[in-house]
Amino acid sequence: MTTGKSFFIDQTRCTACRGCQVACKQWKNQKVVETVQTGGYQNPPDLSSSTFKLVRFSEVVVDGALRWLFFPEQCRHCLQPPCKMVADMYDPEAIIQDPATGAVLYTERTKKLDATEIRNACPYDIPRPNPETGALTKCNMCIDRVSNGMLPACVKTCPTNTMHFGERQDMLALAAKRLEQVKRKRPHAMLVDVSDVRVIFLAEVHPSLYYAHMMAARPGEPKVLSRRELLGKLVRQA
Ligand code: SF4
Ligand code: SF4
Ligand code: SF4
Repeated sequence: MTTGKSFFIDQTRCTACRGCQVACKQWKNQKVVETVQTGGYQNPPDLSSSTFKLVRFSEVVVDGALRWLFFPEQCRHCLQPPCKMVADMYDPEAIIQDPATGAVLYTERTKKLDATEIRNACPYDIPRPNPETGALTKCNMCIDRVSNGMLPACVKTCPTNTMHFGERQDMLALAAKRLEQVKRKRPHAMLVDVSDVRVIFLAEVHPSLYYAHMMAARPGEPKVLSRRELLGKLVRQA
C-alpha cells in the first residue's frame, strides 16, 4: 500500500478565482511575470520558474454545449516519477523523493542536467528551467509547510473546497466518494491517473479538454479546438 501525502482536486467545484495561483506565488516569493493576451483568460500563458501553479482556462464544446473549463495545473508528484528516472541516469541526487510525504523535489543539482530531456520525460510537461540559475523548477508540495504540519499554500487558500490535501488513503477515499456523487449527473466523470500520481484530479469531461487552450496556443501539437474554431462552430450551430 502506498502511503505518504496526496492532493485531491475536485474540478467540479473550481471557479477559477486563481487564489491558489496567487497563494503559491506569494509563499514562494516569486516575481510578477510579464504576460500577453493569448485569446483567453489564462494568465500568464504558461508555467515558468516564477509560476508553479497555473489555472488553465479552456472553452470547448461538450455534447453540443459550450463549456468553460478550469484546471489548476501543477506537478503531480508521480509515484514513480519519469523525470527522476531520467535524472537518475546522470545524478541520483539531483531529483529526490521525500520519504515521509512522497514529494518529488528538485535540487540545485538539476542545473547540470539537460533541461529539455527532463522536461520531455514529464508526461504533464511541468518542469521549467530558471533562466538565471539554470536549475529546473516546479511545485515542491510546499514541503516546508507540510513538514511543519501546515497545508500547502494553494490548498489553504482555496475558498470553494476544490483542493484537499492529506494522507494518501484519506484522499483516495474522499476522491472515490465524490466521484460516485458526481457521476450521477456527469457519467463521464473520472479520477485522472489515480494509481500513478499524488495529485488526483476529478475531471467532469475527458482530461484532454482541460488543455484545449494550451494546445491551441502551441502550433504543431495536436489541438482540440481553438477559440476561433470554437466560435465558428457555435455560429454554425446557431
Ligand atoms: S503545493 Fe505549494 S508549491 Fe505546489 S502548487 Fe501548491 S502552493 Fe505552489
Ligand atoms: S508531474 Fe512531471 S515533474 Fe512532476 S513528478 Fe511527475 S514527471 Fe516529475
Ligand atoms: S483557489 Fe480553488 S477555486 Fe480558486 S482557482 Fe484555485 S482551485 Fe479553483
